[in-house]
Amino acid sequence: MSRTVLVTGGNRGIGLAIAQAFAKQGDKVAVTHRGSGAPEGLFGVECDITDGAAVDAAFTTVEKELGPVEVLVANAGITDDTLLLRMSEDQFTRVIDTNLTGAWRCAKRASAKMLRAKWGRIIFISSVSGLYGNAGQVNYAASKAGLVGMARSITRELGTRNITANVVAPGFVETDMTAELTQAQRDAYAKSIPAGRFASTDEVASAVRWLAADDAGYISGAVIPVDGGLGMGH
Ligand code: NDP
Repeated sequence: MSRTVLVTGGNRGIGLAIAQAFAKQGDKVAVTHRGSGAPEGLFGVECDITDGAAVDAAFTTVEKELGPVEVLVANAGITDDTLLLRMSEDQFTRVIDTNLTGAWRCAKRASAKMLRAKWGRIIFISSVSGLYGNAGQVNYAASKAGLVGMARSITRELGTRNITANVVAPGFVETDMTAELTQAQRDAYAKSIPAGRFASTDEVASAVRWLAADDAGYISGAVIPVDGGLGMGH
């Protein structure tokens, strides 16, 4: 069955791989971008998720063009790393406003139509840092941990309506976000990952696609790690 899917930050990186995975199986896929335009073959809406009015307008456009959003993938996110003592309040709140409040804005907007349809899938892209912690990422880890509480609370609120809310927690993935690491840092991180390597974006996308499927309807409030074993036990 073809579904309407919205992937925030689906113009590049992990979000793009997720959007392409849904498009490949025949779903109607929209991605948000911030002016870069939509990747070929995907429907694009300009949207900054820190702006509630922009989120509302983006959903309205997608609803008009592709129908109500049935699968929301809240993927857009940023880092702004530094140690706690050096972190400014602006660095903290900006990351929270994008990664956590931005995801909430989208989930809230999507949920009204999902409730009406009595079906929905909300998937939050978190991070191994959210549960494992990471020096220099107090802001980022807090935002990503918050997504777990959000998904579980949505599960308790909307679980009886065929709406699931889950979290995918990737480890290190080959994208622009990790391209900033030096080779020495990459080697050190790879050594600490049981799989011995970073993930491809497609490996994250396949977990997301699976969670959105009809046969994953009894999985909700779960945290699915895609981290090569890095965060085991958390
Ligand atoms: P990228 O840096 O490659 O892409 C980030 C995406 O988020 C871009 O599409 C960007 O849009 C979008 N974005 C950022 N801020 C906003 C905003 N305010 N409004 C709308 N869109 C925004 O990141 P990745 O693909 O690596 O990461 C995707 C998700 O996966 C993030 O949530 C990240 O935290 C998470 N993650 C990544 C890991 C990794 O190793 N790469 C590991 C674990 C989790 P634009 O192109 O306009 O900048």
